[in-house]
Amino acid sequence: MTWTERGSGRSETRRVAGVFLMLGAAPNTEWLGGAAALDDRGFVLTGARATGGEAGAASSPQLLATSLPGVFAVGDVRADSVKRVASAVGEGSIVISSVHHALQGD
Ligand SMILES: Cc1cc2nc3c(=O)[nH]c(=O)nc-3n(C[C@H](O)[C@H](O)[C@H](O)COP(=O)(O)OP(=O)(O)OC[C@H]3O[C@@H](n4cnc5c(N)ncnc54)[C@H](O)[C@@H]3O)c2cc1C
Repeated sequence: MTWTERGSGRSETRRVAGVFLMLGAAPNTEWLGGAAALDDRGFVLTGARATGGEAGAASSPQLLATSLPGVFAVGDVRADSVKRVASAVGEGSIVISSVHHALQGD
């Protein structure tokens, strides 16, 4: 089988028994325009990596906080997330309490 990288035009041929395509893992975060800190691959930093503070426990309300106060990131777009459906849904449910606290000015 031969595959070609469209950007560089580089082709590679190998004998393969099966193929698993892993597509769509690039974060779409350019629109943030630098408002929230990103890692070197464009994923949104949260928790200690975003704020420069100490790493908190998994239940820390700041775990999902970005460098922009009141803005949170969950799921695949978040740096260091697990990149699985269940974890994205779980982070989404966890972050709601942080959103409520932020709206109350806590
Ligand atoms: C090929 C492949 C196979 C996978 N297989 C598995 C698996 O077997 N098991 C598993 O648990 N996980 C799997 N995953 C991972 C799983 O799909 C993700 O972890 C999960 O979908 C993450 O959910 P999310 O809501 O964070 O992001 P997404 O599901 O990517 O949702 C983000 C949404 O935001 C939209 N969006 C992006 N930019 C903007 C914008 N500027 N404005 C408005 N909307 C925007 C996108 O169109 C998208 O609908 C797989 C992923 C891929 C790519």
